[in-house]
Amino acid sequence: MSFSLLGLQPAIQKAVEQAGYTQPTPIQQQAIPAVLAGRDLLAAAQTGTGKTAGFVLPILQRLSQTKSKHPRPTRALILTPTRELAAQISEQITKYSQFIEPKLKHLVVFGGVNINPQMMALRGGVDILTATPGRLLDLIGQNAVKINEVEVLVLDEADRMLDMGFIRDIQKILNLLPKVRQNLLFSATFDNEIKSLTNKLLKDPLMINVAPENSTAEKIEQKVYHVTKGQKTGALISLIEQNNWQQVLVFMATKHEANRLTEKLESAGITAAAIHGNKSQNARTAALAGFKSNEVRVLVASDVAARGIDIAQLPFVVNFALPRSAADYVHRIGRTGRAGMTGLAVSLVCPDEIPQLKQVEKLIGMKIPVAELSGIPASNHNDHDLTVRPPRPPRPQAKKPAGAGQKPAAGAKPAAPRRPRPAGSSSQPHTAGGSNAGGNSQGQGQRPAPRRSNPAPQRQGNN
Ligand code: AMP
Repeated sequence: MSFSLLGLQPAIQKAVEQAGYTQPTPIQQQAIPAVLAGRDLLAAAQTGTGKTAGFVLPILQRLSQTKSKHPRPTRALILTPTRELAAQISEQITKYSQFIEPKLKHLVVFGGVNINPQMMALRGGVDILTATPGRLLDLIGQNAVKINEVEVLVLDEADRMLDMGFIRDIQKILNLLPKVRQNLLFSATFDNEIKSLTNKLLKDPLMINVAPENSTAEKIEQKVYHVTKGQKTGALISLIEQNNWQQVLVFMATKHEANRLTEKLESAGITAAAIHGNKSQNARTAALAGFKSNEVRVLVASDVAARGIDIAQLPFVVNFALPRSAADYVHRIGRTGRAGMTGLAVSLVCPDEIPQLKQVEKLIGMKIPVAELSGIPASNHNDHDLTVRPPRPPRPQAKKPAGAGQKPAAGAKPAAPRRPRPAGSSSQPHTAGGSNAGGNSQGQGQRPAPRRSNPAPQRQGNN
């Protein structure tokens, strides 16, 4: 199917051509005609499916076909969980709207940066506003923007917004919107909370399910490497170097660990940058720009920060630690294999994480193939020690004399006799300070506010 069959106007088709798209993705084929016809939409679509163009293109067309009033009211509102995702959507709006005349005004607003320039930019109104919920409410509170004439509402990555504790903010925003409007909801996963939101929000929606529910994109090759905690850093470095991986996105359990790993990669001669919620917006933007331009080989990220990363053909994603929620695994590996490209998603799984791995496999409905590591330094049971050591020689077998079978690596010390471990001790000791890279991230997770059950609004940091 070609874009010309979808009913898009020439100015939009021209932009799509210029973007290099030859045919609409499956979600675009279904979403574009429905949105043009004014229908509500419920789309189970992961990032990487082309969903953004799926809603942006028809919204542009609808808005450009009717004149905006004066002063310009906000006619389309796009809510997203993170600043990065908001910025990426805005980039796509710029790209797809460039030939439309008269010009549509659009603006992106998010927290973590000075609100004043956003207030100035909102003077005179914008047709399309892309926003994170918290900052939008702040702007509404300051009388900088009104949303009572919104014609189309988009909730992008709605599951993530709920995960991040935005449900009360979203409810407040919904109360300020006009009753009659078009609603488009995109979500990669559907649990009961999302289902209840969709029931309230959507009227007779067209349901689109481009990937089976809670499944991983088909084009992503997945691998698990079973390692100990102490082997993770060395394993990652070996994988990057041996396979000459470029543009590797690595997910960490905590911001602290993201910083530490970045330092270690750098000291191993691999350019790396960390991106997480504690970094300033400028630092995040610079890290992302360096990664996109291939100056930075490895981007070490938390889940939240990585949410909006859209890099065409991102080839490698590594779960240094498995996420706490299995659905996050789907989100994470959706960073690769984007829009039909193939990608590789690797998980470094230590014994503590086996239950999480089982959860992930249950959710995606398949066993992830296990791969073998070659030449990976033996575990030193300390994630923070980057020293590359020769493999530990095999322990003496009961019936064989010591040294029989495999030879110890050259230069390696003979295996020390095993000391009996006190009862109850773990083979995976936690490092001092509760650091838990690669381990069970309970209580230390990168993920911010859990879904709220308390009445007081408490929104995510800077959003
Ligand atoms: P999204 O799922 O919206 O995050 O889009 C993922 C990527 O796919 C973005 O880099 C888009 O530029 C790209 N993309 C969107 N539509 C198409 C298309 N029809 N053909 C090829 N690439 C596309």
